Amino acid sequence: MLTLFGTVLRPQSPSDCRVLPNMVVRIDDSGRICEISSASQVPAGAIGGDGAWILPGFIDSHLHLPQWDRRGIDGLSHCQWQEKMVYQAEERFSDSATVEKLVNDFVSGMIANGTTTAVSFGSPFPAATDKTFEILEKRGVRGIHGMMLNDANCPVGLGQKTDEALESAKQLAARWHGAANGRLSYAFSPRSPLTCSEEMLRGAAALSQMLRCYLQTNVAESIAEEKALRDAYPDNIDDLDLYAEMGMLTPRTLLGHGVFLTRQQRDQVARAGTTLVHCPTANLFMENGMMDYVAHRSAGAKIALGSSVAAGPDPFMPRVAIEAIQTAKALKVHAIPRRSYPVLTPAEAWWMLTKGAAEALGLASRIGSIDVGMEADCLVVRPEPWIAELDPQEQVSALLYTIAPEQIEQVLVAGKQLVAE
Ligand SMILES: [Zn+2]
Repeated sequence: MLTLFGTVLRPQSPSDCRVLPNMVVRIDDSGRICEISSASQVPAGAIGGDGAWILPGFIDSHLHLPQWDRRGIDGLSHCQWQEKMVYQAEERFSDSATVEKLVNDFVSGMIANGTTTAVSFGSPFPAATDKTFEILEKRGVRGIHGMMLNDANCPVGLGQKTDEALESAKQLAARWHGAANGRLSYAFSPRSPLTCSEEMLRGAAALSQMLRCYLQTNVAESIAEEKALRDAYPDNIDDLDLYAEMGMLTPRTLLGHGVFLTRQQRDQVARAGTTLVHCPTANLFMENGMMDYVAHRSAGAKIALGSSVAAGPDPFMPRVAIEAIQTAKALKVHAIPRRSYPVLTPAEAWWMLTKGAAEALGLASRIGSIDVGMEADCLVVRPEPWIAELDPQEQVSALLYTIAPEQIEQVLVAGKQLVAE
């Protein structure tokens, strides 16, 4: 049994984020929250105490694990980035000692930044993917991960044979999807339609359906890619049209970026129940553009947030959420004719970082909120003390804009205290 004490932040919905001061949160030996009550005094032995806050752990729904140590290298176009950073970063994963070190560094980085669930792409190597899952299992974080799939137009050494790659991915999914009491899940992960054949895309879609796994890829990320795609698939209007034809638009599909989706395409994503992963820091870092979050929300699409490390330089998810707000504001003030709609609020940002993301991933019955019966994926943080003097909605805002990784004192996943080694 573990006992936490502090102010509980409870994102309920996009428009409702509650602040509950002086709460005791008890976690039973199975790692679930078994009691939440208010108390005037800090119970003996409690983690946190006066001035501490208890937040649901952050959920990062799109990132590239092999690029963990390629963050913040500015000045490359999307194509140059692919050639110079992405491929080189992944090539190293043919060596198991490198995988061991980098994945451990990555997990420590996630813990230090309060990310309790990470949805990540791996390298195209089955052994490295297997090893990655072993490390995720051992270190105790929650993860949705998958081997990168690509069988066309990629450097020698990274390209796969279609059948072999799909077979390896299937075996990895059979081994790891639902492993560690459901803490780990598998995502079939085709890199892009430019580096995958139709057989690979169809195969990944079919296997993810059959095994009830996730399917993750990118969509409408950059103008250069959209152009190249038109040459590669002249019979399809764009990548979304192609994905629909390949059977890839499902409720368990996560599409990263979506900067250039049109109104009809946003409706199509919403109708399919597919999740769009908004990566505002990466979209700007790579000079790809600004995704219109408000338009996607109005279309009714499920939206989660992704750091898109390392095309996004920052793994700290509250800063990704702040960028989502700032991007929406920039789009609004520069719109011609002028627009007057509300942009996303700090409450909505907290929701997208936690419960909203859990809903999009189909995990909301287990994680995403501090509620009785939930698995205890949570953070104990110590924000600047003046925040406690504000009114609750100001607290929700100020906490988002001022919270820093150094203020995180404890990271729990399924009730276990994790350490950044
Ligand atoms: Zn990406």
